[in-house]
Amino acid sequence: MYYDDNADLSIIQGRSVAVIGYGSQGHAHALNLRDSGVDVRVGLAEGSKSRAKAEAEGLRVLSVAEAVEEADLIMILTPDQVQRGLYKAEIEPNLVAGDALFFAHGFNIRFGYITPPEGVDVCMVAPKGPGHLVRREYADGRGVPVVVAVEKDATGNAWPLTLSYAKATGGLRAGGIETTFTEETETDLFGEQAVLCGGMSHLVQAGFETLVEAGYQPEVAYFECLHELKLIVDLMIEGGISKQRWSISDTAEYGDYVSGPRVVDAHVKEQMKAVLTDIQTGAFAKRFIEDQDAGAPEFKKMRETEAGHQIEATGQELRKMFSWIKPTDEDYTEGTAS
Ligand code: NDP
Ligand code: MG
Ligand code: MG
Repeated sequence: MYYDDNADLSIIQGRSVAVIGYGSQGHAHALNLRDSGVDVRVGLAEGSKSRAKAEAEGLRVLSVAEAVEEADLIMILTPDQVQRGLYKAEIEPNLVAGDALFFAHGFNIRFGYITPPEGVDVCMVAPKGPGHLVRREYADGRGVPVVVAVEKDATGNAWPLTLSYAKATGGLRAGGIETTFTEETETDLFGEQAVLCGGMSHLVQAGFETLVEAGYQPEVAYFECLHELKLIVDLMIEGGISKQRWSISDTAEYGDYVSGPRVVDAHVKEQMKAVLTDIQTGAFAKRFIEDQDAGAPEFKKMRETEAGHQIEATGQELRKMFSWIKPTDEDYTEGTAS
């Protein structure tokens, strides 16, 4: 583990940093770096929607090409699927030996969509939390843990530089774990697909469907299969699965042991292994990028179908009852948070 004491802030303070993209991660990195006394500029496309937000914070906004040319450390924080095209057109032509290319996720390096030139350090500082938390924790004097990696140490200084960057963004206040681009990419994709996002969403839907198909009220099914999830997850985060089992009733705990393994059985684990294989071979990455390159027809179709699930309409009505959840008009079926 690395902490603030293991890093020298003056290294990053001596560099010119370009943060490319000003979304979830981009705004957090740019603002935390600036507040740590780092010379930072933001690179955005012509007519970018984020430009006004960055300028309102007093940040200098340049085109991506200009920002890369000016800087000697470039952190790429645009969505993973646009990084390859942006890199070819605006980043690669402006890189020189001695520059450092930083990422917050190893996707494009791991699967070979970006191959940096000789003489350029290739490093990762990946916060294990969403960008808005990365900014909020920093502003409150704390930090979100990071994983750090060096894919290529061209200058011999890539590690101290990586740790210095991690310190400036607040990550080493919480702690940094050393990893590799391969480990970070493969485990990140697996976790979100099999457990956190894919696994959880479809577990909730299947439970809801089972109750509704058996004739129970959708509103009651929503409470039992979705709403209470947060209480359970909070307990797991605080004290592991043990604390969660300690807190629930003995009836629920006994049911966990008896029925959990019937639902998540050997077949589920076989499927998880198959998902991991598709990640490791690059088959998932290829499918995702080919679809994105074609205008994302498969992605858009799946997004539309899933948003039409009965649990969404049920939840939208029910959430009006929860005074502690802020009502929102946001359309979650379009794009991503930034
Ligand atoms: P976002 O989707 O929030 O990035 C949006 C930003 O990228 C906007 O400023 C957008 O500009 C800009 N952008 C989009 N397309 C282009 C383009 N073609 N050229 C220039 N700028 C463009 O990304 P995230 O912050 O979610 O992800 C960034 C990286 O961080 C990824 O590698 C991701 O895997 C990683 N990561 C993300 C985490 C998260 O919490 N979201 C957590 C850890 C890692 P505009 O406003 O004009 O659309
Ligand atoms: Mg430069
Ligand atoms: Mg991810």
